[in-house]
Amino acid sequence: MVLYKCFYCLREIDDSQLKRRVRCPYCGNKILYKPRQMKVVVKAR
Ligand SMILES: [Zn+2]
Repeated sequence: MVLYKCFYCLREIDDSQLKRRVRCPYCGNKILYKPRQMKVVVKAR
């Protein structure tokens, strides 16, 4: 399962919700991106 994120409404959409059309099911936006796992680096003091 691949999670995408809508560029417009920022909702997460998984692969199964996008069958053939790459389109946000919530707002109809066609621009989706794959958010990378963000690692938050906190420097210890
Ligand atoms: Zn959307």
